[in-house]
Amino acid sequence: MWSNAPPPTKEEGTREEGARIELAKTGPCMACLSLQMQQLLEPELVIYGCDYNHVKSGSRWRGHMFGYALCKWHNMRYLMEGNTFATMRQIYGPSLLDGSPTFHETYGSDDELIANQTYIDELRAVA
Ligand SMILES: [Zn+2]
Repeated sequence: MWSNAPPPTKEEGTREEGARIELAKTGPCMACLSLQMQQLLEPELVIYGCDYNHVKSGSRWRGHMFGYALCKWHNMRYLMEGNTFATMRQIYGPSLLDGSPTFHETYGSDDELIANQTYIDELRAVA
């Protein structure tokens, strides 16, 4: 589905951290989900299969538990095959590369996105 996907490079940390990262990588994108919750994106367009985005506090590393899933568009602004930049921007909105003020205004704060990831992981764990 994605072209030019980079190989995974991040080391995985503890087992609990690794589990969170693995769940995030196979689950939905938190930015896509935020659009869906705002009724700006059809549920079937939410992207599954993501990068794990580690959140920093300023320049301080917060650890592997502080992060959430982002699809290649929302993380890296990679185009989905067959779509133009304009189409992607219209359907999926801004990416992290548009700057963090724009990103967080659209999808919520890092802490909200982390909380959403935790919630989704719990839902998927019992499903
Ligand atoms: Zn996304």
